Amino acid sequence: RSRKDTEQYYTLFDPVLEAHAEADKRLIDDLKHAINNKDIDLYYQPVVDANSKAVLGVEALARWHHPEQGLIMPIKFIELAEKNNLIGQLGEVVLEKACQQLAQWRAQGIDIFMAVNLSPIQFNDPQLISKIKYYIDYYDIPAHRLEIEVTESALLESNHATGHMLEELINLGVRLAIDDFGTGYCSLSYLKNMPAHKLKIDKSFVDELELDKTTTAITRSVISLARELNITVTAEGVEKESQMKWLQEQQCDQFQGYLFSRPLPSDKFCLWYKQHNATHNNITYLQPAET
Ligand code: C2E
Ligand code: MG
Ligand code: MG
Ligand code: MG
Repeated sequence: RSRKDTEQYYTLFDPVLEAHAEADKRLIDDLKHAINNKDIDLYYQPVVDANSKAVLGVEALARWHHPEQGLIMPIKFIELAEKNNLIGQLGEVVLEKACQQLAQWRAQGIDIFMAVNLSPIQFNDPQLISKIKYYIDYYDIPAHRLEIEVTESALLESNHATGHMLEELINLGVRLAIDDFGTGYCSLSYLKNMPAHKLKIDKSFVDELELDKTTTAITRSVISLARELNITVTAEGVEKESQMKWLQEQQCDQFQGYLFSRPLPSDKFCLWYKQHNATHNNITYLQPAET
């Protein structure tokens, strides 16, 4: 028996691993059940204009309220869904709920964009674009109010079919955002051939602003190149006033981060939205009149 065989022997019968596998299997079953029942909730994180601070839109972020384990974050269940052939159905639940919510807000006079994250695996579904079109039509949403976020790494790995689908998406009038920009070794020249409307600078860059010289320099040139290419730039994970100030100086267009708000369930978002607008208007109102 070689050493490798022995290791395999012990691996197979490791009770701890067995228990983990058992728990994983149960979690996958629970997830399947939750998706079937459309029991995945969406939280909404505001995206604000860099200068006026007006709320321009929200990013829809998936949350799973597990009956026993409580709130489970996407980092725990998105990959699980991707690996177990559940991401297509999960993605559809997210898409439908996001469109439904957007329509509801529009009916209340809240005119903002809705950003939805798509897993690269969803592009294996040849029906993806027609499904998106279906929800836009069904909920009567202007296509340009829907924004699809695809990560930079997904775009880099994308094949011809995905490229074609992205083109179709844009032809529908839907906006395309490159998510987590800076993390996927995307070359800047790549942007030239990219039909994206927006790029979202990853939080890991924002975190290092003014602390790391290289990060600061890269972020500065990304913003300036995007401006020249007419691509909107959103900074993600803005937590500090100093980060916001620096990004404003570089003429970054939009901010998203805890400095403004965490992702919120829809009712809490509505309250935040009203209060934010009231505060924002008060600031304007309270400014001394020119004499
Ligand atoms: P993402 O698309 O880059 O979303 C931004 C993440 O950063 C969110 O985490 C958000 O809560 C977090 N964030 C925003 N501002 C701050 C900040 O100031 N500080 C800190 N510490 N965090 C901040 P979340 O909701 O946990 O989502 C993580 C990732 O899971 C998302 O990253 C996205 O890649 C994925 N995800 C979430 N919902 C979906 C979905 O419906 N479908 C797919 N395919 N992926 C999703
Ligand atoms: Mg995103
Ligand atoms: Mg991101
Ligand atoms: Mg991210």
